[in-house]
Amino acid sequence: MRIFREPAELQGWALDARRAGVRIGLVPTMGFLHAGHLSLIDVARKRSDAVVVSIFVNPTQFGPGEDLSRYPRSFESDCRACEEHGAAAVFAPADGAMYAPGHSIWVNEEELSCGLCGRSRPGHFRGVATVVAKLFNLALPEVAVFGQKDAQQALIIRRLARDLNFPLEVVIAPLVRDADGVALSSRNRYLSEEERARARTLSQTLFAIRDAVAAGGTAALPGALDAGRQSIRGEIDYLEALDAATLGPVGASTQEILVAAAAKFGDTRLIDNILVKSCRP
Ligand code: AMP
Repeated sequence: MRIFREPAELQGWALDARRAGVRIGLVPTMGFLHAGHLSLIDVARKRSDAVVVSIFVNPTQFGPGEDLSRYPRSFESDCRACEEHGAAAVFAPADGAMYAPGHSIWVNEEELSCGLCGRSRPGHFRGVATVVAKLFNLALPEVAVFGQKDAQQALIIRRLARDLNFPLEVVIAPLVRDADGVALSSRNRYLSEEERARARTLSQTLFAIRDAVAAGGTAALPGALDAGRQSIRGEIDYLEALDAATLGPVGASTQEILVAAAAKFGDTRLIDNILVKSCRP
């Protein structure tokens, strides 16, 4: 497995690979890899010949007061896991290598980014879209895999590829949970035992809303959301049900509903979501 530190090295390798007919798959991550990340590598491997995993804690997607400086890192074991899952290369650039002094071009998505996490994390999706556009130009993938865990991000990246004409397919892979239902996240490692116990109420609430809609149809949503707001034992940022395709309100044409939540447990902000089929009672 190759390890690239310099953007130009990765791009040179990718150009050669493309010329040789190799289909490249890209899995962007911030490292501290867990089974959720590794499932994306497995999906990418099935759909490509050579998988590049990027490991980059992208400073431009963190706001002031967020956890950039303490974000967990485990580069050596991440590389071992990537190799075990058959990645062809890891790309782990230094901050300075990704953003030259005077970097002044940004990618702004202006519709899907407005709600949910975009409301409480201004500038976050600008940082995400910009770094992902750069990664697309460096790794030259034909397929890029993102997790449903970050549902809003995945839709924004699809829009990025569509609106800026990147010649690649964006695949959204299923959300992977721990045995207790909590969505796997690098940030789970910040949680104390007591916070972890409270964090379970986030996924439990989403499951309860899914079950309420399965039993009572879409009409049960408002009541289920109200009950949900009472059952999350953390500081809720949002708990919302939206049309999963547009992030607009649930309406007659909605086929799938995204129930998405963000809440803080201690200092740790976690997000989670579940997809629910829209159905009339
Ligand atoms: P991150 O390292 O948190 O930026 O995540 C990198 C990629 O892994 C993103 O596409 C995430 O959506 C995805 N991911 C993170 N956690 C999970 C999970 N529990 N299940 C599936 N994908 C995940």
